Amino acid sequence: MHVLVLGAGQLARMMSLAGAPLNIHISAFDVVSGQIIHPLTQEVQGHGLENAIQQADVITAEFEHIPHDILHQCEQSGKLLPGAQAIKTGGDRRVEKALLDQAGVKNAKYFVINTRDDFDSAIRHVGIPMVLKSALGGYDGKGQWRLKSTADADKIWPEMQQCIEASDNQAIVAEEFVPFDREVSLVGARGKNGEWAVYPLSENIHTDGVLSLSTSIDAQALQQQAKTMFEAVANTLNYVGVLALEFFDVQGQLLVNEIAPRVHNSGHWTQQGADTCQFENHLRAVCGLPLGSTKLIRPTCMVNILGEDTLPSEILATEGCHIHWYGKEKRSGRKMGHINVSADYYAELERIICSLADVLSADAFPAVHQFASQHK
Ligand code: ATP
Ligand code: MG
Repeated sequence: MHVLVLGAGQLARMMSLAGAPLNIHISAFDVVSGQIIHPLTQEVQGHGLENAIQQADVITAEFEHIPHDILHQCEQSGKLLPGAQAIKTGGDRRVEKALLDQAGVKNAKYFVINTRDDFDSAIRHVGIPMVLKSALGGYDGKGQWRLKSTADADKIWPEMQQCIEASDNQAIVAEEFVPFDREVSLVGARGKNGEWAVYPLSENIHTDGVLSLSTSIDAQALQQQAKTMFEAVANTLNYVGVLALEFFDVQGQLLVNEIAPRVHNSGHWTQQGADTCQFENHLRAVCGLPLGSTKLIRPTCMVNILGEDTLPSEILATEGCHIHWYGKEKRSGRKMGHINVSADYYAELERIICSLADVLSADAFPAVHQFASQHK
């Protein structure tokens, strides 16, 4: 089997690593350069999409912000999974919100803003405080504003207006501010035949808007709610592949924040913690193979490596620790790799993460230090 991935980053790389044992070969299409790249060696294998589409058995994507003409070209081949509609839904917060409503899953109250008058209507409809997010192109908390008092509306409007006018079809989605206790996410897979399976929920910690730490959790009541919402969203989209749902946990009630029509950073722990990792299950789903078990084999926590390209050797020397580098050039704040930490029991996992705070700097790994100070 030959799978073409739209996008040539770390997610395509990890699909390639997971696909090899199943004889599934991955090529990656770099949307920016138009080159076809080997996702592990970065070797250029060709140019242009048309030829790569013809050679592929299946086409999938590692991110949702893909130009629509490329999506349509792939969709026409009949090989694109998940379909263009699902990918576009994840890339446009207006469409995403409409989908969540259609699927009947709880999400934060919202209002779409195109003009200054809309902004006033949003304040009346959604209330203050509110979170404002660009409809297109946002990720890692970028393209967002917070409004804490009506008096500040005039101050932030020029920036919002600039964002709306900077690109075609752009808008801002105003959302009520959700006073959540914590953020969790559910990663699951749905096959071509409608078969689906989800992993245990992940609890996520963000630092400056970027995911920094994600741990499998055992929370049966939340898991049940999340599963029901996953099924509703995946079925509504007639989804094929791995899909992630991000939630706010508000006193034991889940609200969907957003969806990601792809393998997800909060599912990286499945590489060491689950029977079949999310990358393999995504490939199984889009290639029409049976899904692998999503069972937890041991509690696992993923720590993102942000803006660093070396780690103390103690990490590899620690039992249960695995490093996954992405082979990227160092840049401040960039996702360079992750560490998966596993243990037989949650208490043991907590102990190991706390011990990592002794060897990882607080500057580069604030979430590990935050975790350690909360679990002392
Ligand atoms: P990512 O790519 O990391 O998922 P994103 O840019 O797609 O981020 P969101 O997930 O929508 O954006 O928001 C980033 C973070 O901002 C959330 O994880 C959450 O911490 C906070 N946030 C977003 N929406 C709200 C809200 N309505 N109320 C409170 N906090 C929010
Ligand atoms: Mg998010």
